[in-house]
Amino acid sequence: MTTLYEPAVGRWWRAERYDIREGLIRPVEGAGGEFYDPWEEYGLARENGLPTPYESLFEMMSQLELEPSSSEGAVAFSARSLRRLTDWCAGHGLLGLLPHRTRLVTLTPRWRRAEGNILGPIVASWGKDYVLVPMLEELVVGSGGWLRTGRPYIVGGEGIVATENREDEGRVVPLELRDKSWPSPGVLIDVKGRLQNQSLSIAWHPYFPDVPSHESESHPYPLPGTQRFFESYAEPLDAFLTTAADLRRALLLLGELAPREEVSPSARQHVGMGQRLLDALASPISPSIWPQEDGTFRLAWPTPSLIGAYAFMAMRDLEGQQRLLVCGVCSRPFVTKAYQAKYCSEKCRHTGQKRAQRQRAKERS
Ligand SMILES: [Zn+2]
Repeated sequence: MTTLYEPAVGRWWRAERYDIREGLIRPVEGAGGEFYDPWEEYGLARENGLPTPYESLFEMMSQLELEPSSSEGAVAFSARSLRRLTDWCAGHGLLGLLPHRTRLVTLTPRWRRAEGNILGPIVASWGKDYVLVPMLEELVVGSGGWLRTGRPYIVGGEGIVATENREDEGRVVPLELRDKSWPSPGVLIDVKGRLQNQSLSIAWHPYFPDVPSHESESHPYPLPGTQRFFESYAEPLDAFLTTAADLRRALLLLGELAPREEVSPSARQHVGMGQRLLDALASPISPSIWPQEDGTFRLAWPTPSLIGAYAFMAMRDLEGQQRLLVCGVCSRPFVTKAYQAKYCSEKCRHTGQKRAQRQRAKERS
């Protein structure tokens, strides 16, 4: 069924190939890519008893191996491990850590045509047909997703800052022409649960390796969720792994929940920690009501980040009494409905029981 509004639930993007350079996971230039719906993959996995997208992330992480690196005393991921990681990204995309944390981006003001915006009638009264005015452009996230908004700066009292120089169209408005009352370029971003104002060069530039450093403040950064965004967006390897590990930890902590009479005080504390972690990871997701072509409504959960979608998938699994546990034999994380389960598979159960038998035999002798 098609919807009136274009974005499917949890629309995300994956490049065909990724590589890792200078600590950043990034799409291979010119590799191409596509939009897909992570929720569709989740539904298919659940239907067919296959690992869900977030389980496949944990599985990939559990296979990463470290080896001595060329610099003395240091360790690094093996080439095979890094390939596993970039292969995973080619199947699912990056986690969306930057749009996940960002609430508002105020871009550096640029000269834009006055005609067509609220200054249009004023400019028309001057009898001129081409006037450029400074435009405030913002990238804003709302419940329906990301939006680019633009409005001209209107300076009260002093009049309007404007130019007729056609060559200036799209260029950055010089600092000396900017009024003190104008909002400064910058980012409103979530830092460990607190909203902070940060500069574009600190908060956004590290995620766009092709933006030259002299443009780190003034670059016209792309709107999250668009192809242009995904093609230029990279993610630091350490942040990728730490955030994925946070999700895994949250679910393992929540896996300690048991009926009241069986749960220990420390397990109860762990469950509370897991709950706070998982809530925070799912927090950028908010509901949206989508009218359908057949005249009905559908409740949708647009998500500005893949990691947010994964946190939300895990919440639905927990509600369905699915738990993330770690296999006692191979240490692989696995999702199960049986909270007392110890092993990920029949094979590991067999190995585990053999080990227990040997242990008991040793104790007897
Ligand atoms: Zn196992």
